Amino acid sequence: MMSENYDIENWGGTTVPEDPAGSISGEEYRMLKQRLAASKFRSRFRLGERELLYLARRGRSAVAGECRGFLIRRLAPAQPRNDGRQTPMRGHPCFVAQHATGCCCRGCLSKWHHIPTGRELTGAELDRLTAILVRWIDEHSAGVGELPYTPDLF
Ligand SMILES: [Zn+2]
Repeated sequence: MMSENYDIENWGGTTVPEDPAGSISGEEYRMLKQRLAASKFRSRFRLGERELLYLARRGRSAVAGECRGFLIRRLAPAQPRNDGRQTPMRGHPCFVAQHATGCCCRGCLSKWHHIPTGRELTGAELDRLTAILVRWIDEHSAGVGELPYTPDLF
């Protein structure tokens, strides 16, 4: 079912490039951000305390790997399960970033990222979308390292 472009078994600790934000240029990202900023719906998303604490606990590169894993499992198939409803609104930094950047379902990938529906995502597309999510999370998590860490929450 899945192509060999990427390794679905590896989603939990999936490896990402050394710079997980590097698969999109600063200029391309800036242009995407400009388009997203014009959408009231997209631009209202923020990381909540729960997502920020999760990020502080897991660390940036683990979360980047999880972003790629969510994309692989929930968006990469040619016909994703529950397409349009597969991405929760909160609970993981990736979910929030997906809504904020138009990476939540194949309809949004088509509209915002010009990726056609009805076919699997390629490895290069996964790298690029992961980079977009990581950049968005980076921009919305300033000071996350100073958050008090409460192990009981997890
Ligand atoms: Zn969507």
